[in-house]
Amino acid sequence: TQYVYRFGGGVSDGGKGDKFLLGGKGANLAEMASIGLPVPPGFTISTEMCTRYYEDGEQFPDSLREEVAKGIAHIEAVTGKKFGDASADGAGPLLVSVRSGARVSMPGMMDTVLNLGLNDATVEGLAKVSGDERFAWDSYRRFIQMYSDVVLELDHGAFEEALEIAKEDKGFTLDTEMGAADWKALVAEYKRLVEAEWGKPFPQDVHDQLWGAVGAVFGSWQSERAKVYRRLNDIPGDWGTAVNVQAMVFGNMGDTSATGVAFTRDPSTGDNAYYGEFLINAQGEDVVAGIRTPQYLTRAAREAAGAKAASMEEAMPTVYAELAAVFDRLENHYRDMQDIEFTVEAGKLWMLQTRSGKRTAKAALKIAVEMADAGLITREEAIARVDPQALDQLLHPTLDPEATRDVLTKGLPASPGAASGAAVFDADTAERWAADGKAVILLRTETSPEDIHGMHAAKGILTARGGMTSHAAVVARGMGRPCVSGAGALSIDAKAKIARVGGREVREGEIVTIDGTTGEVMAGEVATIQPELAGDFGTLMEWADAVRRLRVRANAETPLDCRTARDFGAEGVGLCRTEHMFFDAARITAVRQMILAADEAGRRVALDKLLPEQRKDFIEIFEVMAGLPVTIRLLDPPLHEFLPHEEAEFAEVAAAAGVDVETLKRRAAELHEFNPMLGHRGCRLGVTYPEIYEMQARAIFEAALDVAARSGQAPIPEVMIPLVATKRELELMKAVVDRTAQAVFAERGAKVDYLVGTMIELPRAALRAAEIAEAGEFFSFGTNDLTQTTLGVSRDDAARFLTTYVEKGIYAKDPFVSLDVEGVGELVQLAAERGRSTRPGIKLGICGEHGGDPASIAFCETVGLDYVSASPYRVPIARLAAAQAAL
Ligand code: PEP
Ligand code: MG
Repeated sequence: TQYVYRFGGGVSDGGKGDKFLLGGKGANLAEMASIGLPVPPGFTISTEMCTRYYEDGEQFPDSLREEVAKGIAHIEAVTGKKFGDASADGAGPLLVSVRSGARVSMPGMMDTVLNLGLNDATVEGLAKVSGDERFAWDSYRRFIQMYSDVVLELDHGAFEEALEIAKEDKGFTLDTEMGAADWKALVAEYKRLVEAEWGKPFPQDVHDQLWGAVGAVFGSWQSERAKVYRRLNDIPGDWGTAVNVQAMVFGNMGDTSATGVAFTRDPSTGDNAYYGEFLINAQGEDVVAGIRTPQYLTRAAREAAGAKAASMEEAMPTVYAELAAVFDRLENHYRDMQDIEFTVEAGKLWMLQTRSGKRTAKAALKIAVEMADAGLITREEAIARVDPQALDQLLHPTLDPEATRDVLTKGLPASPGAASGAAVFDADTAERWAADGKAVILLRTETSPEDIHGMHAAKGILTARGGMTSHAAVVARGMGRPCVSGAGALSIDAKAKIARVGGREVREGEIVTIDGTTGEVMAGEVATIQPELAGDFGTLMEWADAVRRLRVRANAETPLDCRTARDFGAEGVGLCRTEHMFFDAARITAVRQMILAADEAGRRVALDKLLPEQRKDFIEIFEVMAGLPVTIRLLDPPLHEFLPHEEAEFAEVAAAAGVDVETLKRRAAELHEFNPMLGHRGCRLGVTYPEIYEMQARAIFEAALDVAARSGQAPIPEVMIPLVATKRELELMKAVVDRTAQAVFAERGAKVDYLVGTMIELPRAALRAAEIAEAGEFFSFGTNDLTQTTLGVSRDDAARFLTTYVEKGIYAKDPFVSLDVEGVGELVQLAAERGRSTRPGIKLGICGEHGGDPASIAFCETVGLDYVSASPYRVPIARLAAAQAAL
């Protein structure tokens, strides 16, 4: 097997199609080199090597050593420099960077080593060839520091402390004040530190350095933070990372040198304008780390921000023009917005990376729609480009412009959206409080990959330092969290858990609001308004609706939810869970009286009180959903859910229901179940207490006739029986519904069309679907219960171990979130086939949580279901996912 692939100097062993093998970075470096862009020469060690490295017990095969030697020879041939050469004649010593690069980018999660190839001898060579002794020794100390941290895993703090002490001794405050001799002295100190902590001298053999770094990059694939990132982003552990070894180019060789990151369009808004940041006389990591405040790329951006420091367009017009031409070339070549890293070394432009840029949902929509309108991509491609899940960011409220705001300070608008929550100052607290159901805003001076779990748990992120491309900004955009970065006036004391700004303080737990669209930071909570659903969003949704086959309904049971769902484009209600209506304070007493009644007559008295209430519920829903199908599920949960469980509540509840406490307690004890999920629930309630279902059916039909009479538009009720296992259960329940319908129609002298069907949420129902379809007119897959009963995993207790299951690859994703296609999916497939065998064209839908999950929706398309039903805010996600599934 070949493991090493070269690029640069007119050679490209790979290309953009090789992401699986070379990782995203490696594939795109090869691609850029192949289209003639200036890429420093290098080579990529493939992801297959990563897999083999772990299989072989973290060893490299001999064949790799030969291939790497050839790779180094390639770089030497192109650059004319020699690896480990101290002679200082010719082009000088070759220095390389060693970077990770997985199939998909994992920002900051894995290791990088720069300036590799420096030692006590080559540093002298570098000094002579560059004519800059200070630069050479600065590079050497950076290398030792980075290598000791990443490869030798020595305590990072000790090196920083040594640097601080060296500066203090000299009375310096800035690194830039350090001269060649100062760096030289620090190098000696660093080497002493390495020997003391590591027990051996700093490696002087450049080949040892290289192998150490390659091993560290492969090793970082299994680091804790990389694992967490993969889990949050559904990245399989067996993909592995590639390693890119590339000739160093220096952005820190004086004022004609620079380094920067850029996007071909604005990744936050999607505006079609170059967008980026750069630093003169700096190395790449300086921009991303947020240590110095970067300058703008374009003059327009600088002016818009009112910044003084010259933009690249102004400071380096010739190289800027060259760079702009590269942007256009890359965007047209890849037909997508690109995220680019570049370095200018002594006036010469070098491209270090290009990839499809991460963007906010808003930008994704705008870019997709504009590129399709410009003919660069097709409408189908535009549909395929937008991640349905990301739409979630757009569907949530933004700050009400009319609301009063107590603005504390302003930072950069790093990731759009507004969020309010309790201020927390560390990731662990963020995670803990969020787990307790609290909304939190994570405040950090700057974030690092160690904060990732806290960023995920937080509603929003606020940092005092760092630019638009800082770690916090990039990660927050990827997660869809609102983020304000670089709020420079804010001073954050994480130890004391206090943020100070302009004489004011924010302490842990105090509510703050951030607006990631404007960069404003406010004290307290600020009112919000509903999002704008027209514009690019509306356009893309229209395109999606034109191609999708699956209909999209909503799971909704309040008029408000129904209205939201309709506004989001729902084509009906796929699941109205009637039990939620029973918990209303005004009704719960009647519900309890029904449960506590001694006999059917007693129950009917209580049910008569509930009937008008329930009818009112349905009238409201039918009105909002006028002319659309509404699936109403008859009562499902076990009755004890409606009774109190706490001693303290018994007396009050008994008094309200008009029974004595002893009766209430006895009944509660009678109803107690060991495993309520498999107990006296679903149609089992209807079988034992048909009068409950009778009341609900009556409420449905009376409401339907009322609305039809009033509006002239008859609703289409679909009455759904839950938790059916056998045909006989459904027959009995359908008889109750039909009998009630006939009675109501006779009383009113009018009728409406309706259907009676069942949920398929038990394996037996799926298996016996052929005969069940003889009794029922539709199936709705209740995949929450079907997952629970097929896997034998309690949905309420699964959280405790499912994460481990997913980490160990037992299930690829949480099966309650994304359908277990192989297991539960097979039952769905089989039930659909068997149902159709006895009732051709039977209406089929899904109403479990999976109905709003894009991967599960893709599966529903293959089974040919008629519709999916999702919670209101997921309706647009489902519309887009259904369109993608149909492409
Ligand atoms: C289901 O089981 O998938 C379902 C939709 O019903 P519930 O979640 O109410 O049990
Ligand atoms: Mg269910």
